[in-house]
Amino acid sequence: MNSQRVFIQNYSLPELEGWVESIGERPFRARQLFKQIYGRRVSSWDECSDLSKMFRTQLQFGTELHALELKEKQEAADGTRKYLFGLHDGQAIESVLIPDPPRYTLCVSSQVGCALGCTFCLTGSLGFRRNLHTAEIVDQICRVQEDLESSKRITNLVFMGMGEPLANYDAVLRAIQILTDPSGLDFSHRRITLSTSGLVPQLYRLGKESPVNLAISLHAPEDALRSELMPINRTYPLPQLMTACREYPVAPRKRITFEYILMEGVNDHPRHARGMIKLLQGVRAKVNLIPFNPHPGSPYRRPPEERILEFQEILQKAQMTAIIRQSRGADIGAACGQLAAQHGNAL
Ligand code: SAH
Ligand code: SF4
Repeated sequence: MNSQRVFIQNYSLPELEGWVESIGERPFRARQLFKQIYGRRVSSWDECSDLSKMFRTQLQFGTELHALELKEKQEAADGTRKYLFGLHDGQAIESVLIPDPPRYTLCVSSQVGCALGCTFCLTGSLGFRRNLHTAEIVDQICRVQEDLESSKRITNLVFMGMGEPLANYDAVLRAIQILTDPSGLDFSHRRITLSTSGLVPQLYRLGKESPVNLAISLHAPEDALRSELMPINRTYPLPQLMTACREYPVAPRKRITFEYILMEGVNDHPRHARGMIKLLQGVRAKVNLIPFNPHPGSPYRRPPEERILEFQEILQKAQMTAIIRQSRGADIGAACGQLAAQHGNAL
């Protein structure tokens, strides 16, 4: 693939108007292109008979319609699908489709690897390779939709794949702008959730700039333990993070989701549950309890069932919403924290 070419999915509609004008076409052509790419999902510019021959030739030689190449697809026993995509520089990422008809949720990656090094996360153990470009984020949705049976549509997007989305803020926000554009894929913000380990300055920006649903990876109710599990907590400790959550503009009838991985003997004691109640006081919150998903080399274990239920019950008795989320696709390394974009997932 020639990297001198323009990746068309990098442009939001207003940006595409500017680009179209810069090559001598009228700006309204941009909306036409958007509709062709995201509405009709054309696979070549030749299919766009509403564009002049000259414009099509310019597009053919100057642009790339897709940023990703599908390398491998695996399906788990529960129907979860993991896609391995190659990027133009030889790197790879993964996306996971979680079917729950009529809901089809796509778990999207935002970076190759991750710099934040949480001790329980396989992506973190890869280290940071690079940020994804907007086109590489948008194309995950396009490629997976292309692969789905025509009667099925991706209905929900979660930024819970590889990487920390708020560490790649501009590319992620532009991708969300493209994905929600009524001339394009037309996703509602209500069907998009961004999960973050808690980058406080970017959280304030996000609150002002995008009405997507917010999920915070908490995993510990106290600073010492959280810093041990998630080094980012040393930069933005819990008091700062919780202030940002309290000040976050949550829409009426909406709540912030707090994710809590349960790890045996680490953060699954009843005192941790009581700590969570105290920490989340006054926050419009719901808690997702995620039993730890094991991966090669990891020192943690998931707690026994009774321990998980006990933790949930303590939260529920304090009138908190606490749901146990069984991750899907674990048999193919597609569950939360298992994404490494390696063939066969061997590390
Ligand atoms: N970087 C962002 C989004 C990607 S991780 C974040 O950390 O929020 C998506 C979710 O998977 C996070 O809640 C993360 O803590 C969780 N996760 C990571 N490793 C996991 C594991 N081994 N088992 C269960 N969940 C895990
Ligand atoms: Fe990065 Fe999220 Fe994994 Fe932590 S849990 S290393 S922030 S991807």
